[in-house]
Amino acid sequence: MTVDHPVSRSALPYRFDNPAVPTPSTQLETLTPSAVANLSSFQAYLRSSKRILALVGAGLSASSGLPTFRGAGGLWRNHDAMELATPEAFSNDPSLVWQFYSARRAAALRAMPNKAHYALAELAKRMPEFLTLTQNVDGLSTRANHPPNQLLHLHGSLFSLKCTSFYCDFQEDNHFTHPLTPELAIASETLAPYTHIPQSGLPHCPKCHTGLLRPGVVWFGEALPWRVVKAADDFISAGKVDLILVIGTSGTVYPAAGYVDRIRMQGGKVAVFNIDIDDSESEDDFSEMESERSYANRTKWTFEGDAAEWVPVALEPIIGHIEVQEGSSGERFNLV
Ligand SMILES: [Zn+2]
Repeated sequence: MTVDHPVSRSALPYRFDNPAVPTPSTQLETLTPSAVANLSSFQAYLRSSKRILALVGAGLSASSGLPTFRGAGGLWRNHDAMELATPEAFSNDPSLVWQFYSARRAAALRAMPNKAHYALAELAKRMPEFLTLTQNVDGLSTRANHPPNQLLHLHGSLFSLKCTSFYCDFQEDNHFTHPLTPELAIASETLAPYTHIPQSGLPHCPKCHTGLLRPGVVWFGEALPWRVVKAADDFISAGKVDLILVIGTSGTVYPAAGYVDRIRMQGGKVAVFNIDIDDSESEDDFSEMESERSYANRTKWTFEGDAAEWVPVALEPIIGHIEVQEGSSGERFNLV
């Protein structure tokens, strides 16, 4: 299976209408009056916002059909996925860990970016002071053509490669070729019996030619990449962030909660898009009886449900209307 990374905007299965011509979303017709007021209040503030940070979590990958292994207690070939995601596991059995990650790369490549990935990419293109900080390692934001200089991967990426040699600094991002070696092709066939791959059949460093490559994801027990953490800090320190979008994760857990707190202390506001909104997150929600004036004074909005549906609708005033192109097969990858 060979996978080509698409770069052409014309290949996108979504169509962007001119935002100057408002196109009401059909979903709005099904919203309750309070939900419409909530959305209108958010969009009014969005229009006035100059600097925006999006924090993206696993819920957005789930909307593309991808399970998250991190913290989920998931199994892969009867191995606890969390126990495979450690430097010790890689050191002990690189064949096993590489096959786990090769299977995850294949699954991520079979998944498609959803409308929210495209919506955030479009927002980045239209708003230079917008930054996406994603916890997801699946490469879907990159494949939605999110501008790379406005996209930070807090937990690294399945499609980054790093040399494990102490003496070598090789790292390559956005390496979407699959499989990485002929031997790893079997790892994407989950029904095939497990076969140990000797080190010679695992990916090796093209720079030093001796070191084994490893996936460029943050494993349990490892620190978050300091360049990414610093870039996010620099963005927040460079001026008031008017708005933080918390997407596919809870705004009350680390690390989202930390960023939410910092931005609210600056006077910024928060919008949470998640499948579940817990009570503490909707603490300043208003009842249906609240007046328009109350909505105007909000500092926090919550959008409960599929983030892939909510985010493009909420961002419409800036990015225009996104819809699936007629006749699109949704298959943008050349799987041979
Ligand atoms: Zn190397």
